[in-house]
Amino acid sequence: MELCNQHYYATRDPFGTRGDFTTAPEISQIFGELIGAWLAQQWLQLGSPKAVLCELGPGRGTLMKDILRATRNVLQFHASILIRMVETSPVLQALQKQTLQGSHPDIAWKTTLDDLPSLPLMLVANEFFDALPIRQFVGDEERNVIHLNGQLTFSPQGEVTREDSPASAAVMQQILTALHQQGGTALLIDYGYNGGQQKDTLQAVRQHAFCDPLTHLGEVDLTAHVDFAALTAQAQATGLQTAYTTQGDFLRRLGAELRATALCRSASESQRHQILSSLERLLSPEQMGALFKVLAITSSLENPIGF
Ligand code: SAH
Repeated sequence: MELCNQHYYATRDPFGTRGDFTTAPEISQIFGELIGAWLAQQWLQLGSPKAVLCELGPGRGTLMKDILRATRNVLQFHASILIRMVETSPVLQALQKQTLQGSHPDIAWKTTLDDLPSLPLMLVANEFFDALPIRQFVGDEERNVIHLNGQLTFSPQGEVTREDSPASAAVMQQILTALHQQGGTALLIDYGYNGGQQKDTLQAVRQHAFCDPLTHLGEVDLTAHVDFAALTAQAQATGLQTAYTTQGDFLRRLGAELRATALCRSASESQRHQILSSLERLLSPEQMGALFKVLAITSSLENPIGF
């Protein structure tokens, strides 16, 4: 899964109607604007420190661009932050550089979370953890992929009973160590679950449709649902404060509908239709609103996360 996704992201821009899938920042600017407002609020609550704003897996760079535009007028915010983009794909790094040209004087790219400046951390990751490799188990046995009679197949056969993601736990531990040592806040958004019976959530997507994960290796998007209960337990074990809700609830509380109304005021009829249908896509429980979850983690125990 790791090798397949590395190849997949390193060789294309997978987003949008002409690609394989579409993410929230590509659907509406409101998504990034509200996250910008939330991050700025958290930064004020941390006492307006000099801080690192870090994005994991930034795709086309659209989310960061919207965050920066929306926070332009927050006094001292831009002057107080350094931006670090963590991206393994050279193709997407190049795209992000293009998107963010002129957006901020101090933006640098890295391929891992190692060696971030030791300053309070403001971290955001949208649809990042779902792309990290998982393990699956059939009973006590790990399910592998084997080459048999000229084709790839799962072994042992049988129903998957459990899955986990050591890769996600490792990235999470890096975030938690930074938050614990330097202070700060992280916001993780992904589709996933919080407890309950989750078994086989591995999925492959190509051109907006599900497909077989063992064919077209490295040419399709492989993901798994994120286990938010595991991430939350890990954060709480470090003594950090967490909050968890759905994407729909998170964006509504931050004023998504008000922002859409404001955008509609200066829009044409067709733009209005586009603004409102995109908003519906982000908020509605039948679309992304309930499937996507938001986990916030902060070192600031005396301040509320706000949801
Ligand atoms: N956040 C973006 C893109 C989500 S797709 C959006 O919402 O549109 C996943 C992103 O994570 C891509 O940019 C991909 O190249 C990147 N990525 C995947 N695995 C990674 C890893 N191990 N380290 C850093 N980036 C990774």
